[in-house]
Amino acid sequence: MDILETLYGTRAGKFVANKAGLADPPRLRRGRVLPTGPVVLGELDGAGIGRATLELLGITPGQPTLDLPENRTRDENGREQAPRYVTKPGAIVVDATGVREIVQLEGIRALLRPVMRGLEPSGRVIILATDASAVEGLEAKAVAQGIDGINRTVGKELRAGSTSNLVFVKEGAKAGDLASTLSFLLEGRSAFVSGQTWRVGPQKVAHDLDAKPFAGRVVVVTGAARGIGAAIARTFGRDGATVVAVDMPQSGDALAKVANELGGSALQLDITAADAGERIAAHVASRHGADARIWAIVHNAGITRDKLLANLDEKRWASVLDVNLAAEMRINAFLLSHDVPGGLAEEARIVGIASTSGVAGNKGQTNYAASKAGVMGLVWAMRDELADRPITVNAVAPGFIETEMTAAIPFISREIFRRTNSLSQGGDPVDVAETLAYLCGPASSGVDGQVIRVCGQNLVGA
Ligand code: NAD
Repeated sequence: MDILETLYGTRAGKFVANKAGLADPPRLRRGRVLPTGPVVLGELDGAGIGRATLELLGITPGQPTLDLPENRTRDENGREQAPRYVTKPGAIVVDATGVREIVQLEGIRALLRPVMRGLEPSGRVIILATDASAVEGLEAKAVAQGIDGINRTVGKELRAGSTSNLVFVKEGAKAGDLASTLSFLLEGRSAFVSGQTWRVGPQKVAHDLDAKPFAGRVVVVTGAARGIGAAIARTFGRDGATVVAVDMPQSGDALAKVANELGGSALQLDITAADAGERIAAHVASRHGADARIWAIVHNAGITRDKLLANLDEKRWASVLDVNLAAEMRINAFLLSHDVPGGLAEEARIVGIASTSGVAGNKGQTNYAASKAGVMGLVWAMRDELADRPITVNAVAPGFIETEMTAAIPFISREIFRRTNSLSQGGDPVDVAETLAYLCGPASSGVDGQVIRVCGQNLVGA
């Protein structure tokens, strides 16, 4: 149990925690749940892609109508309260795809100021902008990056579990290409994703959004017996997938439990085995039919063997790199180059798990940081290599997530990791799972070669 949650559970505890300057961790809206209040749309000279995408999602946007100055209260110094929108929004979508000049950034400020204290809990700020690669001229490119600075700061200033994220729209992307991303960001599925920026282009293969996006599709999840992997398996199962749950033979009981719960199958396999890719394909064919193909492979299995580099021996080095990076590469290499029964479908998704330790480094984790930064490098390299195939490769980089892996971290460090993000709490395994499910969705093939942090906007590497 999180010590702050315990403290805030009582009046006296709340008093002490507040006096100590500890933030009250807000309860986050999770799952396939939209905000309660209206989704306000602010348009800044764009071509209407924000409006068109909301329309596709069946959302009628509210108008950013400000309250009247005479209705605003004043503080003790006589200063007028900041303007707010008449109806408290659940989210604001700022379509800044037409912003090219420094002076136009003022429009973003004016739209966002009223929501900084006037958004419902677990509200959303979503900014759409045109990617720097799709605009001409120094000012436009600088301005695109300027919007990134706004997003990251807004994420830090929002309160009560609200998040801010920026989506850069790449050349040629249309509303249908953005729909899965906007839907993910508006819903509670993105609860622990804040201050992040990623790029969305035209879908490699066009698909509509679907409530059960993985129905009839096989998804392989490694390290599925517990922690984040079990949450991934359950989330894909919720969304209709036939889940193949993979884990070490010694985790067999827990693994079978997860697989049975989902009506999937369990494969006891050490992923570092040289023939792991072959065995995964053979299992899929034998258990799910010779015609079955893998829609998505989720490389989740991972280990830590922490030591300061001064004390780090070869064994700890080798095992972490083998499980976290080399095994993933070998499995991918087999599946991408062998058209065998139970192998990768022609259109497919490959996702991995990096870490904020890979983004920023972490004391005592040279081996882990090397492996996780390696996962990010792999994503970027594979995106280019697979550019002509209908396969996307992405990763998530979790921050502090409450699992058995992080329960092993000493108490004080654990508390610090939990608090040093914009949402003042550790993430739930389901937060990582939801982001992976979004990336693997049939309608998400415009999202390729991205690493999305699921870290509550952790200060580490921010
Ligand atoms: P965990 O230790 O709770 O679970 C990992 C699972 O992987 C276990 O069931 C384990 O048996 C399995 N596994 C390990 N080696 C394997 C192998 N060789 N073959 C097959 N299965 C193997 O870990 P977790 O916290 O759920 O982490 C899951 C992933 O998320 C890992 O890649 C981890 O590095 C990453 N991650 C976690 C956090 C966090 O805060 N928990 C943060 C960043 C990244």
